[in-house]
Amino acid sequence: MKQERLRNIAIIAHVDHGKTTIVDKLLRQAGTFRSNEQVADRVMDSNDLERERGITILSKNTSLVYKDVKINIVDTPGHADFGGEVERILTMVDAVLLLVDAFEGCMPQTRFVLKKALALGKKPIVVVNKIDRPMARPAEVIDEVLDLFIDLGADDSQIEFPVVYASAREGYASLDPNVREGDMRPLLDAILEHAPAPEGDADAPLQLLFSNIDYDEYIGRIGVGRVERGSVKTGDSAVLCHRDGSQERVKITRLYQFEGLKRAECDSASVGDLVAVAGLNDLNIGETVCNPDCIEPLPFVKIDEPTVSMNFIVNNSPFAGKEGKFVTSRNLRERLFKEVETNISMRVEETDSADTFKVSGRGELHLSILIETMRRQGYEFQVSRPRVIYTQDEQGRTLSLWNCLW
Ligand code: GDP
Repeated sequence: MKQERLRNIAIIAHVDHGKTTIVDKLLRQAGTFRSNEQVADRVMDSNDLERERGITILSKNTSLVYKDVKINIVDTPGHADFGGEVERILTMVDAVLLLVDAFEGCMPQTRFVLKKALALGKKPIVVVNKIDRPMARPAEVIDEVLDLFIDLGADDSQIEFPVVYASAREGYASLDPNVREGDMRPLLDAILEHAPAPEGDADAPLQLLFSNIDYDEYIGRIGVGRVERGSVKTGDSAVLCHRDGSQERVKITRLYQFEGLKRAECDSASVGDLVAVAGLNDLNIGETVCNPDCIEPLPFVKIDEPTVSMNFIVNNSPFAGKEGKFVTSRNLRERLFKEVETNISMRVEETDSADTFKVSGRGELHLSILIETMRRQGYEFQVSRPRVIYTQDEQGRTLSLWNCLW
């Protein structure tokens, strides 16, 4: 059964290639905003740190309705340090929009996510943005994209990707690289045509797979995922299947879907829908909620293990207390343990010293982003040098996963 009224897509883009602008224009084209609604100019805006690093760190969901079809748009993190997350985010979608600057062409930061998307069989749609730039070189950029696809092992159908030329800033898109006017409808039409509608049986017993965890000051932990089979209503009893094999009876008390930039509470959702569920306090990423009469959890996508660790230590140097607002061991502890609730491939451990916490992550970037985020939030602390984590295989050989990432 196909859900013809639904499309789930992810956007892959290098920073500054126009993702925020294009999502904003698509939402406007679809009339997602009421005319009197105040819209922040930059809808999928990244935080400062993302901008400086050239990658998306968090992933956000947006949706619009065009020609009676709901299009969910998911943002993707863009670096190998976030590998585990990327795979899970991509399980929510059926197609990816690869957004490329018509002058700059493909950039290395997007390579990793694109590779994962192609390997998972997602349907690519290439958008050559900033076609208005005087130096635009769309034909060469398409050649580069094609070379990259071949290099990354795209299959035949993926190599025959559709291309849409756009100027997100000027608000037009076209299948013809020479067009410099119009609106964004050609891109929305291309999404309806080329992104596969989700498939599945809406009448079968529920399977809801959570791929992301969000956190809200007021409602707490929120699971974000996709209904893989059946449907779900508020008030339903269900069984949450944990990673360790244990099961928990739960009730779906608060269900949301994405509407524009917001989470909107809803009564029900069906196969293919992306939903958010609040109230499941022990939920972890990769876990499934099932119908109590048919408990069939989906296979758990392995979370990548940490490869590097560092100690985070209360600042006891002569300069202590000069920069930060949050300086105590309790501040540091609370902040770090909060981080691991949503940052799934990160680990925090207590040590012999109450002032020192061992933090392990996927790579230097993963850890340095946490350090920098905390610094900007007013935390003051010291860190040790990063150490590579070693493990042993069955033959007793010492291995490090660290250099396997690349
Ligand atoms: P993001 O980092 O991918 O979200 O990119 P933004 O949407 O923030 O865009 C980065 C910059 O490129 C901004 O200054 C935009 O105004 C500009 N920009 C976006 N789309 C276009 C376009 O189609 N043409 C031109 N010339 N500039 C654009």
